[in-house]
Amino acid sequence: MHETTPAVQRLREHLAPIVDIHGALAILGWDQQTCMPPGAGRTRAEQRATLGRLAHELFTSAQTRELLAAAEREVDGLDPDSDEARLVRVVRRDLDRALRLPAEFVAERARAAALSVEVWRRARPADDFAAFAPWLEQMVTYARRTADYVGYQDHPYDALLDPYEPGMTAAEVRTLFHQLREATVPLVRAIDRRGAVVDAAFLRREYDEARQEAFGRAVASAFGYDWERGRLDRAPHPFASGAGRDDVRITARYHRRYLPTGIFSIFHETGHALYEQGTDPALARTPLARGASLGMHESQSRLWENLVGRSRAFWRRYFPTLREHFPEALRDVDVETFYRAVNLVEPGLIRTEADEVTYNLHIILRFDLEVALLEGAVRTAELPEVWRAKMLEYLGRAPATDTDGVLQDIHWAQGSIGYFPTYTLGNVISAQLFAAARAALPDLEAQIEQGAFAPLLGWLREHVHRHGRKFLPRELLERATGRPVTLEPYLEYLWSKYGDIYGVARVREPSGAPA
Ligand code: ZN
Repeated sequence: MHETTPAVQRLREHLAPIVDIHGALAILGWDQQTCMPPGAGRTRAEQRATLGRLAHELFTSAQTRELLAAAEREVDGLDPDSDEARLVRVVRRDLDRALRLPAEFVAERARAAALSVEVWRRARPADDFAAFAPWLEQMVTYARRTADYVGYQDHPYDALLDPYEPGMTAAEVRTLFHQLREATVPLVRAIDRRGAVVDAAFLRREYDEARQEAFGRAVASAFGYDWERGRLDRAPHPFASGAGRDDVRITARYHRRYLPTGIFSIFHETGHALYEQGTDPALARTPLARGASLGMHESQSRLWENLVGRSRAFWRRYFPTLREHFPEALRDVDVETFYRAVNLVEPGLIRTEADEVTYNLHIILRFDLEVALLEGAVRTAELPEVWRAKMLEYLGRAPATDTDGVLQDIHWAQGSIGYFPTYTLGNVISAQLFAAARAALPDLEAQIEQGAFAPLLGWLREHVHRHGRKFLPRELLERATGRPVTLEPYLEYLWSKYGDIYGVARVREPSGAPA
């Protein structure tokens, strides 16, 4: 930011403490899921509500409105892509939304969400949907009220999706998901007909958790994660979080008798963290120093977890290292067997452990249910039953318990309705970005096979990370790849990878997917 824009500078100085509060809130949230004593739940809910209200009041104050108006006059005529002009535009967008939400409502919603998460935390292992149902009902009501406050043109879901995926609508998601479902089903069927191509039982041998973590740390370092500005801890539901580019924390969970959970959760969260650590230092302590959207964020985690971390090239380099960590468990396993085992397609009950091919069906199910809950087409009490029916329809199997069904995710418990589509958007975008990176870096696969990730990280830094929130996701994607979000690179990736593993050829969708 420059001396020639004093009004923008004043706006920036006014916003910095608000960004600080959001950073502190993130650290409190991180603490709640990593090391907070279980009895502190109510206290923590109050703390988070207080800070959330404070940030909301500061941000929606008359002072912000005046400073923003002055800054808007000042950037008029500046390069529209400058940090200054983009900051002003993003703050205007955020402020217009925030002004529509009363501070009391925001505080009440935050307090209820924190309590709801605590109830969910007990209800999930106890398979007690009845205990959680009234809280979920409340979260749906808060979501409806949020949409009413914020306003929308076509569907209340648009208002809920927007904070996670700015500029995208429920109708766009519905179209994309419909095409994806149409294209995924033939692949799943073709794989089903082939049957298992590898015996993956060795993944359920004994794997010491500390060694899993050590291997994960080695890979995260190689990807480019900066430990001076990050740390790794355990959490029941892995996530990446932090307080700005210089404090980006990741978490993982490990299963002693199932190797993939731990290592791939580290790859995944490292991908998120690389994004945040890579934002331009010039954007620090501004609302721009974050990812462009959750979908764009998830594209980064999925790119490192799947397009890199589950590739044959990657394991040619890293399987020998992994075997050094687990000489007993992997004594009779070769790299090709390992590669196929960690890419096994197997319709399962748990979203976070789903393979790449079936994963999106879990998301499409949740999107359908969120829309139905908002519309009142499904009542909260009916959810477990509807969940089981949809699982049967999409994945061919249904959970015996709600622990493995409707209670499995934290998202609805914390009121994050509108969030789930971003996971699948991330998958789609990850392939689109990777295809563009490969076009720019013809040796990419060889580099991955050598464990040389700097060129790929450099491409992502240049085209995605450094920009933070300066651009809407669709703008960022067009700048990086020349196209808006498009399904074809992802379908091409899935069919070519799994076609090779399972020996099946691509079935062209009769309805005609975009070429
Ligand atoms: Zn993620």
